[in-house]
Amino acid sequence: MPIRIAIGMAATLICVAVAGHRFHWISRLVRAGQPAPGRVRRDLGRRAEAEVTEVAGQRKLLNWRIPGIAHFFTMWGFTLLIFTIIEAYGDLFDPTFHIPGIGTSPVLGFIEDFFAVAVLAALVVFTVIRIKNAPSRKERASRFYGSHTGAAWVTLLLIFAVIATLLLYRGAEIDTKPRQFPYDDWAFASHVIGAGFAGLGHGVDGTLATTFLLLNVSVISGFLVFVSYSKHLHIFVAPVNVAFSRRPRALGALDRTLDMDMDNVTEDTVFGAGFIENFTWKQMLDFVACTECGRCQSVCPAWSTGKPLSPKLVIMGLRDNMFSQASHVLAGRASQRADEHEKPRTAAHGEPAGGEQRDHAELLVPEPLVPGVIDPDVLWSCTTCGSCVEQCPVDIEHVDAIVDMRRYQVLMESSFPHEAGLMLRNIENQGDPWGLGSSRRTEWTQALDFEVPVVTDTIPDDVEYLYWVGCAGALDERARRQVQAAARLLHQAGVRFAILGPKESCTGDPARRIGNEYLYQEQAKANVATLEAAGVKKIVTTCPHCFNTLKNEYPAFGGEFEVVHHSELLDDLVRAGRIVPGTGYSGTVTYHDPCYLGRHNRVFDEPRAVIDAIPGARTVEMRRCRERGFCCGAGGARMWMEETIGTRVNMDRTLEALGTGADVVSTACPYCMIMLDDAVRANGKEEEVRVLDISQLVEESQRVVDAVGSPEDR
Ligand code: SF4
Ligand code: SF4
Repeated sequence: MPIRIAIGMAATLICVAVAGHRFHWISRLVRAGQPAPGRVRRDLGRRAEAEVTEVAGQRKLLNWRIPGIAHFFTMWGFTLLIFTIIEAYGDLFDPTFHIPGIGTSPVLGFIEDFFAVAVLAALVVFTVIRIKNAPSRKERASRFYGSHTGAAWVTLLLIFAVIATLLLYRGAEIDTKPRQFPYDDWAFASHVIGAGFAGLGHGVDGTLATTFLLLNVSVISGFLVFVSYSKHLHIFVAPVNVAFSRRPRALGALDRTLDMDMDNVTEDTVFGAGFIENFTWKQMLDFVACTECGRCQSVCPAWSTGKPLSPKLVIMGLRDNMFSQASHVLAGRASQRADEHEKPRTAAHGEPAGGEQRDHAELLVPEPLVPGVIDPDVLWSCTTCGSCVEQCPVDIEHVDAIVDMRRYQVLMESSFPHEAGLMLRNIENQGDPWGLGSSRRTEWTQALDFEVPVVTDTIPDDVEYLYWVGCAGALDERARRQVQAAARLLHQAGVRFAILGPKESCTGDPARRIGNEYLYQEQAKANVATLEAAGVKKIVTTCPHCFNTLKNEYPAFGGEFEVVHHSELLDDLVRAGRIVPGTGYSGTVTYHDPCYLGRHNRVFDEPRAVIDAIPGARTVEMRRCRERGFCCGAGGARMWMEETIGTRVNMDRTLEALGTGADVVSTACPYCMIMLDDAVRANGKEEEVRVLDISQLVEESQRVVDAVGSPEDR
């Protein structure tokens, strides 16, 4: 008896000590990150809800049904099998041990066996998935490409070993004397295994039970060590990461609004992330939470079109760098703490504190993230579409990390794609990315047969909405047709609106997404001042990028407005009968979700409802729609950058749209319209397929059909 206790507890204590040391080191490393204001105390209710839905309910994992169900049972299996672990350790000391109160309940025996079998079944599913999706078979198309697949196989093997030794131990116990196994036939799997041991004799079974018990305890302990050194760290880190994640999702506004007040800048000020220690502790927690599942990679438009950017490989690269730079990060943190305490201690003791840590920190040379860890082509390929964030089961916030690295490159290194430099200069000098100037911002109104008031002082009392036209809508020929159609529909519905005309300026979205936080904030402050001076309360816009910035990001500068996208307003007006679609259009429509309208702001149903209200419109969805909608390639300031690697994102998306057989590709974003229209033309399909905003489609439906059936303008 003492020998089994000695072996079992020795294996356990050694493994717990090794794993505990590792967990402590990781915890120190994560806590050495920069502050992440608001992450700890905010929204306790929502954080609890996140634990229930994301961790306990496995919501995101279940979006991928088969692997999701398998993971659900594995997660709950390991959670509930804690009872068997308690029983095993109790058995080490006392073979007649049962968990007090419930330890002989047949229900507990059934639950334990059910989940043991469920985990084994899940292992079969995972094995098949891993073989079918092996990177050696599918190359980049495999979501496991670049993951540590060897470690994943070891994990499956260890999980199998945990369950196998458990069932063997329980089976052998059934025929021991005195009979130690407390459950009757409800522990069905144990009894099936036990039948195989029947006839070996009580003594042999007792020896086998002890052997399998010790193996079970040892495998569990070894698994703990393996978890602490592998991607399976997520078993413990994921629930913590989910608890501190942005709720309801890390999309819409960027997380951090940098302090760009030049009065606060010192020689130590760092904008963005150029070295691993510039990330916040929450971002560092993200890096260690990654499961390497590759869901993000499989939905990334950049990766799907042959670019080097994979959100998974970005996170893995940052995690590996964080571990390799740990000495520097920890020494830097110690030095920082010493600096914080230096003054009082100097005053008290007459000598500076922390000199040793500071010297040590200075000796360690930090590694720049770009280009060493993250290649510039990786960094600039991101469209900030948010697909990765949407899919990540452990709520990692890739977009914020990428933008933080861009910020460092732009603001600290003045390093960014040269073609984007012109866009930034244009915004700075002319107030729009094309540099066409404010005087042309009202040209689009000339095609209208009614007057659009331009706000010169304050918005008139009888005007309900400020129509934020956006740079593309005001200045691009194709996008102008969108804002004109929307304007005509609002006018038709009797909605009173006005525009800022030459006083409207770029919201700063492209500048912010490329990393020029300074220019963005200048634009934001100026626009908020203009809107407030004009007394604006309600804004409607046709551009999802403007919509996102005005609605979600301007509140940080005091700009609190009620902002709606034109798809939402049109939906309301159609429902109220103030806009009545007609029969002038008949055909098949496929709707493309703009990333900043759909995924970032959850406006999925309204544009579809507008299309559905058109009697002759038959709708067909693309495979990648709604939350899984595929980017057009223009976001993240990619609209103003060359796309020379791989295939074009807009081509990929447009081929999917053309594959539906629709004769209209409809959308609700000027960027998407331009990108999709370009790709339709590049495919030579402009005679057969048109790209139209939802407002253009409604207008077309209202055209009178003449006697021979062709639509005429009313
Ligand atoms: S935001 Fe979009 S483009 Fe950028 S890494 Fe994520 S999925 Fe890829
Ligand atoms: S970042 Fe999230 S989705 Fe991507 S591999 Fe890691 S855990 Fe999976």
